[in-house]
Amino acid sequence: MIIAITYLGLLQLLLTTPPCVELNAPVVVRVGDGDISCEPSPFDDSLDAAVRIQREFKSYPSTLFQQAGCTRIVLCTKLAYAGQLRAAIPDWEHNTLYIDTQRGAKSPGYPEHVLHHEFFHLIDHADDGDVYSDATWAALNPISFRYGNGGVNAQTTRNTGALTDNIPGFLTHYATTGVEEDKAELFAFSITHKDYITTRIKTDTVLAAKIIRLKAILRNLCPDAKDLISIHPDGLTTSHSAYPTSN
Ligand SMILES: [Zn+2]
Repeated sequence: MIIAITYLGLLQLLLTTPPCVELNAPVVVRVGDGDISCEPSPFDDSLDAAVRIQREFKSYPSTLFQQAGCTRIVLCTKLAYAGQLRAAIPDWEHNTLYIDTQRGAKSPGYPEHVLHHEFFHLIDHADDGDVYSDATWAALNPISFRYGNGGVNAQTTRNTGALTDNIPGFLTHYATTGVEEDKAELFAFSITHKDYITTRIKTDTVLAAKIIRLKAILRNLCPDAKDLISIHPDGLTTSHSAYPTSN
């Protein structure tokens, strides 16, 4: 165990991400209208998560963590917000990203996706302090489109997070539940499935416009992150009317 703990400490010394913090007792933190609660994670699961975090975040410039207000990553289990179990929770009130080291950890691709998705909520909050509305982004959608009632109500919807070609302008059903989830889904898949999106935006002008907007949001918050999304729709012709290039 001593060797393993030393390995985790050594791992963090070598890396550019915020420190991964392990709990030694259950924690309850008041955030917004609810409590974040979590418990200590088994060491082996913490170690797996720490390795995964470093691997997934290695392309992020260190300044992005600073600009997004992420100063620590808490590794834990039985993570919940207001009693609802979650794989990860962004806590911008306390500059913390909570990661459940066990929930969904065995589902191929899921724990990697969750890291990028939840980190984007921190970016989104740092961008303008408003996560749950974005009129500029919403205007990129077809005029008749309305978002659903938030990701919190889709946690148990079957296949809500599965990539699909069947919803023009969106990557997943989950992305249609709220503007904040739309942005976070597009950011996460832009990192993990850029070839898929590169193909989609050749025929999906709404999605192409969203990629351009997403890159502008990143560039405005953190110039060092301007190349983090290596998808380039700029050369595509689009007739979409809402086509902002700045924040
Ligand atoms: Zn989300």
